[in-house]
Amino acid sequence: MKTDHSKFIYSIGVVAKRLQVSVETIRMYEREGLLLINKMSSGHRRFSEKDVERLQCIRDMITEKGLNIEGIRRMMSMIPCWKFYPNCSIEDHPDCPAYATLKAPCWALEGKPEICENQDCYNCPVYQMHIECDQIKSLYHTNTEPMTFQSYEN
Ligand code: SF4
Repeated sequence: MKTDHSKFIYSIGVVAKRLQVSVETIRMYEREGLLLINKMSSGHRRFSEKDVERLQCIRDMITEKGLNIEGIRRMMSMIPCWKFYPNCSIEDHPDCPAYATLKAPCWALEGKPEICENQDCYNCPVYQMHIECDQIKSLYHTNTEPMTFQSYEN
């Protein structure tokens, strides 16, 4: 799935200012696997409005709900990605670290089965779901058909 770069309009400095955090804080969230960031061919990071919302959600979890980075990462690792990712079958579960561990969300893990290893996680329905810590449990009870792998609009 090709990413539509026209919606990535904000530089990291602009986003940091909007959220009243430092640029280094945003880079740290990226390093810690809490978010994926699009880089232009120039190598510069660019953010969409949806990325900003995601960062705001991370900030709220820290400042209002008292979670730390490790807590958010583990909370995200509980997303049952196999329920939402269209290509994941039950045969893939035993070999998948996202199925077996709570270390990190699936998009930040290495050693995934082939069906995920070379995917564009940014455009995956699992990554694009907006998850707050008090919504995770509901995902286990959601009887949903796997969503379509597509580019999401803002
Ligand atoms: S494609 Fe990426 S985000 Fe989607 S389920 Fe696989 S590892 Fe997770």
